[in-house]
Amino acid sequence: MSLVLVLNSGSSSIKYQLLSPEADGPQATGLVERIGQGSGRIRHEGPGGPVVQELDIADHEAGMRLVLDTFAEHGPQLDASTLTAVGHRVVQGGDLFTGPVRIDDDVVAQIDELSPLAPLHNPANLSGIHAARTAFPDVPHVAVFDTSFHQTMPPAAYTYALDRQVAAEHRIRRYGAHGTSHRYVSRAVAEFLGRDVAELNTIVLHLGNGASASAVRGGECIDTSMGMTPLAGLVMGTRTGDIDPAVLLHLARTAGYDTQALDDLLNRRSGMLGLAGHTDMRDVHAAVEAGDEDARTALDVYHHRIRGYVGQYMAHLGRVDAIVFTAGIGENDEVVRAGALAGLEHYGIVVDPERNAGRKKAPTVISPDGAAVTVLVVPTNEELEIARQAVEVVAA
Ligand code: AMP
Repeated sequence: MSLVLVLNSGSSSIKYQLLSPEADGPQATGLVERIGQGSGRIRHEGPGGPVVQELDIADHEAGMRLVLDTFAEHGPQLDASTLTAVGHRVVQGGDLFTGPVRIDDDVVAQIDELSPLAPLHNPANLSGIHAARTAFPDVPHVAVFDTSFHQTMPPAAYTYALDRQVAAEHRIRRYGAHGTSHRYVSRAVAEFLGRDVAELNTIVLHLGNGASASAVRGGECIDTSMGMTPLAGLVMGTRTGDIDPAVLLHLARTAGYDTQALDDLLNRRSGMLGLAGHTDMRDVHAAVEAGDEDARTALDVYHHRIRGYVGQYMAHLGRVDAIVFTAGIGENDEVVRAGALAGLEHYGIVVDPERNAGRKKAPTVISPDGAAVTVLVVPTNEELEIARQAVEVVAA
């Protein structure tokens, strides 16, 4: 049986899972937080249940050492000789990476070269890669990119109508994100329905704190809602999603917004937070029930945007077999699932209220029997997908 340590390194955190893709569930999960911020913390959940330790964690290398010490003390035993691979989530692979790759110094240099496209994420991913390669010098390390599933998009879908030379010089185009989730879910749907993925046309709605939609034809992505960065597309917890770019010019010219202020407004103060005052969809629903008009409008905007993307992807796919909800909101929120697809009955898209009710921990059909389009909820599992891809790269 193969064994993979999956790492997702942020600017001040390392999220990890130890798992075997052939077994059910991870052997251990954990999160190192507030790296380099004075009051660090690790939460580790292994065979003995959760343990939490608070201590100063200087940098990612110290964080990695802490992870290893925690495994040694609380289990399971993590012996480098039993690891098939370390799988790293990398946010931006640009047009350089169409699939997962074994990490060597050239790959590290390429990920670094793409940092201007993901200035917060790629350098953080590289810190994690560096720390893990130091900790496990003899284990294969594999990079799995958030963007690579979307590399099958045709030029018509990924090209912005921008001056071609400017776009080429600055690598400006649609790359998409959440690709690991979109790939996992589009394959899991085919498996659940007992269909060949090559025959299935699917719209995947990944609705979490970040949110994205993708159109998948025969297992290949043909369009996605996130753009050069994860700011485009659907309304998110704190991000605008699609917006007229002239709004930025307007704010810069008339209100003195600089790039930092615009970044903060669009990425951190907008979306459901900006509209309703809450990032968590459960709080938005509570506010709607309490009669809050702003929250009602926010939810309407959220649904309207999703429905628009569904329509767009129906047009691009031609025939849609399945529409799939996933991630925190998609898996748990029956109000959003019903609201986002309301009014699409004429297209054969219907959500059955009884089947839709409640949170879904396993793949579930929520459309009525015999509906033209099968609507489902399929829980995503990005760590499992990263582990599978890492094993495939090592085996190849
Ligand atoms: P994710 O980014 O996939 O972890 O999703 C996180 C988001 O899922 C939270 O911000 C909530 O808005 C949403 N969420 C989680 N649980 C529920 C629930 N039971 N009902 C509605 N939304 C939920």
